[in-house]
Amino acid sequence: MIGVLDLQGDVVEHIDHLERLGITAVRVKEPSDFEHLAGLIIPGGESTCLFRLLNIFGIREIILREFQRGLKLWGTCAGAILLAGKIIGEPPCLSLIDIEVQKNAFGSQLDSFTAEVAVPRVAPKPIPLTFIRAPKITRVGRDVDVLLRQSDYIAAAESHNVLVTVFHPELTPSLVFHRYFALKCGLKPSMDEESSVIDPTWNSRSWTRYARL
Ligand code: GLN
Repeated sequence: MIGVLDLQGDVVEHIDHLERLGITAVRVKEPSDFEHLAGLIIPGGESTCLFRLLNIFGIREIILREFQRGLKLWGTCAGAILLAGKIIGEPPCLSLIDIEVQKNAFGSQLDSFTAEVAVPRVAPKPIPLTFIRAPKITRVGRDVDVLLRQSDYIAAAESHNVLVTVFHPELTPSLVFHRYFALKCGLKPSMDEESSVIDPTWNSRSWTRYARL
């Protein structure tokens, strides 16, 4: 079972991607929601807001404790900022992976963009990536592997227990990063690598089914 931190940001989009892979996904808001989790996704959103909410609800300490017990973590965009050991110009939040990040490194919201890029360790073909007011990973430590390096920055990296991506796989039709994280958590996705490259049944409004009453 994989949890998605449900304090702020794009939660339902991650849950939708996990369920398409046959992975049980739950929203995580309270300490008791951490029971039986193999992994936790910290979604994109607004890192300053998430930083405050993590402290207000006492979730920061629980993530640190569960990480010591083997919980795997994946941070997308703002989530990657929260997991970083160093945030340029600000104190770190969780500091669980030895990377340095520069917030809003591409400019304003209007400088957001999409691209199609090969990430050989994760997918057999190029995949669509969506960057929204993303940070850049500007340095990684010795125990961190780079999954995607671009001209002057790193966009995806991982250590043994932590995955970080500065883009948003949950906002694209590709399920490969969710599959990769599920495997890292020791879970068995129901879809093979080839079919998870693009899910043709996904569209940008797929997540709205979670709003049905
Ligand atoms: N720029 C945002 C921040 O600093 C992150 C944006 C995102 O998660 N898409 O928190």
